[in-house]
Amino acid sequence: MSGSRQRYRAAHLHQPDGWRSPGYFEVDERGYIASVASGLPAGWDEAGVERLDGFVVPGMVNLHSHAHQRGLSGRSEPGADSTVEESFWTWRTRMYDFANRPSPDDFEALAAQAFLEMAKAGYTAVGEFHYLHNAPDGQSYSDPAEMSRRVVAAAELAGIGLTLLPVLYTRAGIGRPPAPEQRRFILSIDAYVSLVERLHALAAGHELVNIGLAPHSLRAVAVEELTGTISSLAATLPDAPIHIHVAEQVREVDECLAGLGERPGAWLLNHLDLNERWTFIHATHCDADERRGMSAAGVVAGLCPTTEGGLGDGIFPLGDYVAAGGVWGIGSDSDYRICVAEELRLLAFVQRLANASLFVLSSRGSGGTQLGRQLYDQAVEGGTRALRQPVGALVPGRRADFLVLDPDDPALVGHGPETALDGLVFSGTSSAVRDVFIGGRRVVSEGHHPAEDAIFERFRATIARLV
Ligand SMILES: [Zn+2]
Repeated sequence: MSGSRQRYRAAHLHQPDGWRSPGYFEVDERGYIASVASGLPAGWDEAGVERLDGFVVPGMVNLHSHAHQRGLSGRSEPGADSTVEESFWTWRTRMYDFANRPSPDDFEALAAQAFLEMAKAGYTAVGEFHYLHNAPDGQSYSDPAEMSRRVVAAAELAGIGLTLLPVLYTRAGIGRPPAPEQRRFILSIDAYVSLVERLHALAAGHELVNIGLAPHSLRAVAVEELTGTISSLAATLPDAPIHIHVAEQVREVDECLAGLGERPGAWLLNHLDLNERWTFIHATHCDADERRGMSAAGVVAGLCPTTEGGLGDGIFPLGDYVAAGGVWGIGSDSDYRICVAEELRLLAFVQRLANASLFVLSSRGSGGTQLGRQLYDQAVEGGTRALRQPVGALVPGRRADFLVLDPDDPALVGHGPETALDGLVFSGTSSAVRDVFIGGRRVVSEGHHPAEDAIFERFRATIARLV
């Protein structure tokens, strides 16, 4: 991606076993890390090495996004005079109303703004759980991949890595046909298979893009579709990650118990061959047995703290899950607030509130035991597994997706490497993210993205038209 080999000297270079201060590394012509060293490598001329004076850390992975919902930011809250009992389900009605408005151009503008904000926040790859397939009247576009192509175009404008997760959505609930307001989401299983095939061909020309599978949930997909076509498709695409919404709401668990005789996590664990390719988005109300099953199978828990908080979903017991070996990552989901530090901070603080104690995560790996570092590293690890992109660590062979955290940001002043990620997670904002490199290319420089003004102007005009 970068076109030529680049050599860097990081003041502090994040490594799986700690830090190198300084750390030298080289990025090859394809945008992958070629070598890492503690001292100036033999044959290098210091004059040809770019200095990165800050904390250089792997880019964060955003494992779950619905980019069009960026347009709903602050516009989906109930009023004080609301006459119904407000819940996730009444919010969903407002979201559906908005989702049926954007044209392909509008959709690309909303997604570009969301992805731009992600890149500036330090997310270097995103899993877009994409279900807006059809035109507002429910008809297929002349190119059935029209809206998917817009997701790819938006990711390219922002320069972010993309795992496109085309969603299969065939019904309103267990045993219930699709509702009219879901007309943009609905695909037949055959149309879905063609779309996935088409997207694989499309992704072949994009270095930062891979394609996964996303049966929406046990609500929106029939079990025969999961055990039949989806399982067959998954077998023919061994590199594709598979994401599904699981147990975000208690009602969803109750409906599953009533309709299938099992809780959703249990049904998936008992009837499908689950493994590290699978991510359960939310998993909020999975019980202890289901969480044990997820850990044993290597399934990632896709936690979305801001959205789960905004919708009052509930609290996933992260401490117990990690102590049992569970892997997790974070998603910005509804995208109405995009900030890595805030997402991790909320995750930790909610655990502390729920337990009325100072939550500490069981440490994993040898990078350091401070909670900020553990939260950051575990989220990167789970996100990397969830998206199946070649990222997640600044070591040879991985894609050069990294951030330079600013040591002069108020949240990081006075911190050394041991506590820098505590500074970011517990007191930082995206202002601490100074530079962002994705695929070896500098996408954000000094907090700015070269396309940010153009993307925002288009977003502003789109919002003015849609709301
Ligand atoms: Zn979602």
